[in-house]
Amino acid sequence: MTHLLPICVKCSRQMRPVKNDVTFTTLHVGGEPMEIRAGDLVECQDCGVRVITGIASRPISEVHHSNFNECVKSYAPEYQAREYTR
Ligand SMILES: [Zn+2]
Repeated sequence: MTHLLPICVKCSRQMRPVKNDVTFTTLHVGGEPMEIRAGDLVECQDCGVRVITGIASRPISEVHHSNFNECVKSYAPEYQAREYTR
């Protein structure tokens, strides 16, 4: 997927790709898993902050799908994403 790379506003630096197609689990506020999604991991070479961007519009699986638990095992998502709360 081609997309513009994010900018680190602290360092005024375009972020560099680290790894494409990393997977993460989105979590409800209470911590329950909702979806497995994939995106691209980028980082700022100056301050080291890392961000997942280029997130696919469709989830790999959602908790109400019959294959959700299988997907959790097979993809073994590397990251988690809690919803923002304020
Ligand atoms: Zn930075």
